[in-house]
Amino acid sequence: MTPEEMIVACCTDLAGKVRGKAFPAVQFEKRMKRGIGWTPTNVQITCFDTIAESPFGSLGDLVLIPDEAAHVRVELGGGIEHFALGDISYTDGRPWEFCTRSILKEALERLRKVAGVSLLGAFEHEFQFRGGSSPLGDAFSTASFRAERRLAETLVAAMRAAGLEPDTFMKEYGAGQYEVTMGPSRGVAIADHSTILRELLRAILAESGREITFTPIRDPAGVGNGVHIHLSFLRGEHPATWDPNGKHELSTLAGQFIAGVLKYLESIVALTAPSAISYLRLTPHRWSAAFNNLGFRDREASVRICPVSELSDVAKAAQFNFEFRAADASASPHLQLAAIVHAGVQGIEEGLPTPDATTEDLSLLEQDALEALGIVRLPQSLPEALERFARNGTVTGWFPDGFADVYVKHKRGEMAFLEGRTEQEVCALYEQTY
Ligand code: GLU
Ligand code: MG
Repeated sequence: MTPEEMIVACCTDLAGKVRGKAFPAVQFEKRMKRGIGWTPTNVQITCFDTIAESPFGSLGDLVLIPDEAAHVRVELGGGIEHFALGDISYTDGRPWEFCTRSILKEALERLRKVAGVSLLGAFEHEFQFRGGSSPLGDAFSTASFRAERRLAETLVAAMRAAGLEPDTFMKEYGAGQYEVTMGPSRGVAIADHSTILRELLRAILAESGREITFTPIRDPAGVGNGVHIHLSFLRGEHPATWDPNGKHELSTLAGQFIAGVLKYLESIVALTAPSAISYLRLTPHRWSAAFNNLGFRDREASVRICPVSELSDVAKAAQFNFEFRAADASASPHLQLAAIVHAGVQGIEEGLPTPDATTEDLSLLEQDALEALGIVRLPQSLPEALERFARNGTVTGWFPDGFADVYVKHKRGEMAFLEGRTEQEVCALYEQTY
């Protein structure tokens, strides 16, 4: 390491951005203790660089403290990618109410206290190349993998170097759309690794001057870029999600957790799919999620029980997991996961029964038929999602004092920037920022 090498201490924020400050890497030890200065109003910087109404104004001082456990140093062809995710605290060390990573830690701690388990999981990301044309007939094709083999192999090496477990890389169905998956990690690392993966991808592509976007949807007529969050539980070192005698083979704990996620989904989607265009993606027949339903291997369900392979040498109990699909990359992965975990733990506390899995096309059902099944259509716009979040006292109560109010103001600031623009223009703006 040269004396001039810099490292960025950073975190994911309410805008789903990764922001931070750089310092000479030789200071890392010192900065892990005292951090770097941070400003409360930064949390109101929207994804469009406007500053939403802020209760902090120009006041206050915080520190962003990089975490060795989320430290990434990877040599790429043309340079070095060096950063560490961290937590934002007051200068006396107390966690700051709007630090997304601290909020996630709280949620995981609640899961541990209430259910005695820890979380294992992985984010799956879809993204699209910007600019250029996308050849016809290339979905999942070998030709389109070949076109990006170099990228895939550079990424796999970078993931390994960063402590992420490479899994698959594929040409997805959409125009210029690819997908990358990784092996599971534990606890806060689940969200850290999602952030690290996105940063590595962008860094690798920046070297060749190419740009990608993780935007929820580029074209209202096209497919979306989803984030699928795979989850399972560990009690000590033992898988605790599968029960061969449980409904849908879910353990009681997993069934209650999923029931909580689905019960509160309409009120947390403002955190898991938080852009104005997220609601263009969360519509039927896009293989995303439009209702608060459980699916047994159904890719239109908000929570899908994933298949296990009978051919694998990994035990079924260890493979068994479910995936949350009402998420996209305009969110902070830390906040997304915190909301899901809190909803799930709420379901455990309430002792909710394992939900039935739906098998029909819910978009064909009338309102009363949906009600009979206990199914709710998810919010169809960001204002509606924010409204359902803000008015649910149980949900806002999971977060630190003042969080919900600041979050809603942040999102209002984001929406104000979009006023008077067409849907296409709005999509183009999100494509630029994510
Ligand atoms: N692109 C879809 C989405 O927006 C997901 C397709 C898939 O099942 O992988 O979530
Ligand atoms: Mg996919």
